[in-house]
Amino acid sequence: MHEMALSRELAALIEAEAAKHRAARVTRVVLEIGVLSHVDGGAMAFCFDACTRDTVAEGAALTIEQPPGQAWCLDCGDTVAIGKRGDSCPCCHGHRLMVTGGEDLRLKEMELV
Ligand SMILES: [Zn+2]
Repeated sequence: MHEMALSRELAALIEAEAAKHRAARVTRVVLEIGVLSHVDGGAMAFCFDACTRDTVAEGAALTIEQPPGQAWCLDCGDTVAIGKRGDSCPCCHGHRLMVTGGEDLRLKEMELV
């Protein structure tokens, strides 16, 4: 389960940010998990709770946003939306697609007090 490793990294990043801003606590964290990333939101939430225990982010409200998948279709010459990796282009049904968005895991926002 690589969500545990990712959560550990995330918890370390949050602690570093909080320390930089001399924050006593982190009350809210917004994570972006693209639908094309290989990260499971539910598992991530579970691991996040475990990894932030006894840290400044303990009990922080976690919001997970899931930006849709995006790809560049070489045949249409346009950006199209895809639901998962390996999908064909919704316009021309071609397969010459390059994924351009929705595959990242990103710390989008955090609220410090
Ligand atoms: Zn196309």
